[in-house]
Amino acid sequence: MERFAYRREASVEGAVGAAREAAAAQFVAGATNLTDYMALGVLRPRTLVDINALPERYARIESNDARLRLGALVRMSEAEDHPVVRTRYPLIQQALALAASRQIRSMASLGGNVLQRTRCEYFRGQGFACNKRIAGSGCAALEGLNRAHAVLGTSENCIAAYAGDLAQALIALDATVETVGGPAGARRIPFAELHRRPGATPHIETALAAGELITYIDVPAGPWTSRSRYVKVRDRESYQFALASAAIAMQVENGVVRTVRIALGGVATVPWRAHEAEAVLTGQRLDEARAARAAEVAFEAAQPRRHNAFKIPLGKRTLVRALLETQAMSVAHEA
Ligand code: SF4
Repeated sequence: MERFAYRREASVEGAVGAAREAAAAQFVAGATNLTDYMALGVLRPRTLVDINALPERYARIESNDARLRLGALVRMSEAEDHPVVRTRYPLIQQALALAASRQIRSMASLGGNVLQRTRCEYFRGQGFACNKRIAGSGCAALEGLNRAHAVLGTSENCIAAYAGDLAQALIALDATVETVGGPAGARRIPFAELHRRPGATPHIETALAAGELITYIDVPAGPWTSRSRYVKVRDRESYQFALASAAIAMQVENGVVRTVRIALGGVATVPWRAHEAEAVLTGQRLDEARAARAAEVAFEAAQPRRHNAFKIPLGKRTLVRALLETQAMSVAHEA
């Protein structure tokens, strides 16, 4: 690991100022992802700006009838255990509980978690062509081992899968993030616009500017938030990233789907909202055949590579299961 400067800031203004002053600065809270990549030599920040001493309001969970407000410094385990999250936003609770290990979730902040980097082994290793590490260097995964890689949202420059779970819940629930330190000061970014598909610039992963800090995540409340579910399929049932996952929130009235929100994980380069699949289900009675039709539509644009074609049928089955399980939950609520 290389030498770096360390600054601990107690205000957002101080943290943003410190990040702007220093070249190659990086915010740090739980440090679970950052130190991993620093040890691998993937990330080489010159200055770490520790934000753990920011005012307590950034580590608070608040809720009312209109929304859930998560401070960016809330630890994943705190959100997972929170009674309002458990009862009114089960999709968020389940996505958190199925991520990483409990030890890591006790350290990792929500703001850091949604910005976690890819697990592509060519990105994490030394000496491989990787457009995400070095712009324009190529992509070793295209012709290499790509079993874990994405089939949706890929480009000829990068096929790395987005690794997180919480982000799928947040994009399905139409969350927004609040930031400070952006080009025009504080701003709100729809979660769906936070992550960028690789396109021609895989090294640019988010809409955040240098030195811009996420302070809050807001999730609007609705009848669907309590009728929501996260299904994750992986190689082993603990401490493993998704091969395929589905985040569903649904409102059913008189047996008809009034609202459904669908996000997919493990199969796409970014947290993936499946609007076309939602359109197949909205206003319809949901049965296995219609769920399967929605799954077909969700993966219509999928582009498999040599080792990851299995993700398409797996992703479809995962989505069908998640839809039917969420429907059963919604019908139970309705009764
Ligand atoms: Fe790098 Fe993306 Fe290719 Fe992996 S898939 S080697 S992260 S460019």
